[in-house]
Amino acid sequence: MTVGESTPEVRLDQLTGLRTILAPARADRPMDFGIAEHGPGAAHTCPFCEGNEQDTPAELWADRPEGAEGGPGWLVRAVPNLYPALGGEVGDDTGAASTGDPLKAAARAARVELFERVPANGEHEVIVHSPEHLRALAQLDERSLSAAVNGWRERIRAHRNSRCVQLIVNEGPDAGASLEHTHAQLYAMDFVPAAIARERERFRSHHDATNGGELLADIVSEEIRRDERVVAVDDEAVLICPWASRSPFELRLIPRRAEGDFAADDMDGFGVGMLATALRALKSRFGTEPQLNLWIRTAPKGAEPFHWHIDIAPRLSIRASYEIATGVDINIFPPERAAGELREALGDS
Ligand SMILES: [Zn+2]
Repeated sequence: MTVGESTPEVRLDQLTGLRTILAPARADRPMDFGIAEHGPGAAHTCPFCEGNEQDTPAELWADRPEGAEGGPGWLVRAVPNLYPALGGEVGDDTGAASTGDPLKAAARAARVELFERVPANGEHEVIVHSPEHLRALAQLDERSLSAAVNGWRERIRAHRNSRCVQLIVNEGPDAGASLEHTHAQLYAMDFVPAAIARERERFRSHHDATNGGELLADIVSEEIRRDERVVAVDDEAVLICPWASRSPFELRLIPRRAEGDFAADDMDGFGVGMLATALRALKSRFGTEPQLNLWIRTAPKGAEPFHWHIDIAPRLSIRASYEIATGVDINIFPPERAAGELREALGDS
């Protein structure tokens, strides 16, 4: 496959070694915020609403208790992203030398390539959470939320051959959503982004430094013992405001059972109750569903030890020059205070 004008490509920054995906076709996306108001009219124009299935690319998967494939009757539905940030086949060997750790790429290369670019291989899909025009995960009842999370797991399983899968939810225009109907996006990549590679390395080095300790399990034990940043605990998971939260009211949902793979076969339904608790805490604290970014950290291919988790960052602050220049975030709201307020909010809800 050749790199063309509209084909997504990955470029490596010469100074930082970090990747950027260039996806010019995404500039053509329609933005429905401010045009299609939430209300009776929205269902007529929204491509994600039940009855408008013909307005999306052909369906990849659906949880459909009734009705024919491609039509109504579904609870959760996955379709290719119409404006993909990734394209082509995972495992395509074009530019294979560039798909490893960016920090090692320069050492491996026989010659210095200053303007390195490769096709952004992979797949980019959308998982629609509900046949109804709801704007937030928090508006789903527990059964629908469970079906949506099950859809996340099904689609991650469908990309087992990818080197790394990133599933994310953007809620609200400030959080990067272009359509308001609640949905997730899945990126199946043939490289491991630096932030995920770093996490994998930290699990490994903690394991080595502690004679087999598991980093996130150790953190959970210690968080429960200190009880300063814990928001909620149930049989399956713990909800905390992370020690070094990058933004106000950041939340991390951690399964109490150490498992690297969010979509492992015996993980079905795991963590849904605590996800509902997290969303309820935020809604209660802010009086409405805040705009937010949510992402699932699951083990990249072959990573061991690893421990999946779900991170939620309400969109309350803006990353400015210092944060962008240094990669160091300045958080004006300590996680201890956020956890206290969220515990209180849960008590009131
Ligand atoms: Zn809709």
